[in-house]
Amino acid sequence: MQIFDGHNDALSRLWCSGEDPVARFTREAGHINRDAAKRGGFAGGLFALYSPQRRTAFDFRGFRGGNMPLSTPMEQGPALQPVIAELGIARRLADAGLIRLCTTVAEIEAAMAEGVIAAVLHLEGAECIDPELTVLDALYHAGLRSLGPVWSRPTIWGDGVPFGHGRDGDTGPGLTELGRKLIARCKELGIVVDTSHLTMKGFWDIAEMGLPMVATHSNAWDLCQCTRNLTPAQLKAVGETGGMAGLNFATVFLSETGWSTGRATIDDCLRQLDAMIEGAGEDHVGLGSDMDGAPLPEGISDCGDLPALVQAMRDHGFGDALVEKLCHGNWLAFLRRQWGS
Ligand code: ZN
Repeated sequence: MQIFDGHNDALSRLWCSGEDPVARFTREAGHINRDAAKRGGFAGGLFALYSPQRRTAFDFRGFRGGNMPLSTPMEQGPALQPVIAELGIARRLADAGLIRLCTTVAEIEAAMAEGVIAAVLHLEGAECIDPELTVLDALYHAGLRSLGPVWSRPTIWGDGVPFGHGRDGDTGPGLTELGRKLIARCKELGIVVDTSHLTMKGFWDIAEMGLPMVATHSNAWDLCQCTRNLTPAQLKAVGETGGMAGLNFATVFLSETGWSTGRATIDDCLRQLDAMIEGAGEDHVGLGSDMDGAPLPEGISDCGDLPALVQAMRDHGFGDALVEKLCHGNWLAFLRRQWGS
C-alpha cells in the first residue's frame, strides 16, 4: 500500500544535522530516508520548510507533553535563512533522484508510479514572508504549494497555539489584517492553507474566508485534550468544506496517556482514525505523520514500519477502499480539488 502523507519534517531535520543531505538520506538515518521509504511504501507527502530557533540536532528521547509557553517570535531574516537552505536541500535530493518536487497531482501520481518519492513543498510557519508578500511569490515559483501561516509562535499573521493540555486551541487571537492578506493571496495562487498550530479563532477566521479547512497534522481533541488537536466542531468543518485532517503520529497528541508519558501505540492511532472519520467523514481523513518532527508510537520506528499501521487498519475492520483512501486516496483527491490537475 502506497502512503502519501500530509506532514513531515525531513528537510529541517536534514538541515539541522549539518551533514551532506544526499549522503544522510541514503543511509538509515531519521524517520524518513531512501531505504525505509522503499521498505514501508512511503511514496510521498507534504515536506515542510521550517525555521527552527536554533540549528540543533533533533532528539525525542524523554520527550513528553508539558504545558509550555508560546515560543518566542522570529524575525523575518533569521527565519528566511533556514527556509532557503531547506529549499536547496530539497533540490539536491531531487537532483540526486531521491525525491521529485511536484506541483500537480498528475506529477505526484507519475512519481508514485515510478517509485520516486513525490514531495510537495509546504511552509510551516510564515515568519520568513515579508508583509508585502513578495517572498510568498518567490517561494511559489520555487514550488511551494501548501502553507501554514503560523507555527506555535506569535507572528505578524496571527498567533499559534502553545503546546498545552486540558484546554482546546482557543488560546489567543485569530488572524491579523496582514494574516487575512496572506491567506487571500494563498487562495489566489491555489496554495493549500494549513491550520495545524493555529489558534481556534484563527481557524474560524479562515473558515469565514471560504477556504477548505485543512489540518495537515492534528488529531481528535476528544481523545487527547491538547491545544493542537481538533474539536468536534472543527472536524465537522473539515468535512463540510471538503478539507482534510491528517493523523499525527506524535505520541503526545494521540492519547491522554501519550501526552503524560510520551508513549503511545498503534491502537491509539486506530482510535484516533475512528474519531476523526466520525467527525470529518471518511473522505476527509488521511495521514499526517509528523515524521522527523515528533516521537512515534511503539511499533513504528521509522517510515519503514508503515505496513504495520496498514495491517492494523485491516485487522481493525477497515475495508480495502477505506484503507486506500486513508493511505493516499483522500490526500490526492483533495489536492486535485485544490489545484484542478
Ligand atoms: Zn507541526
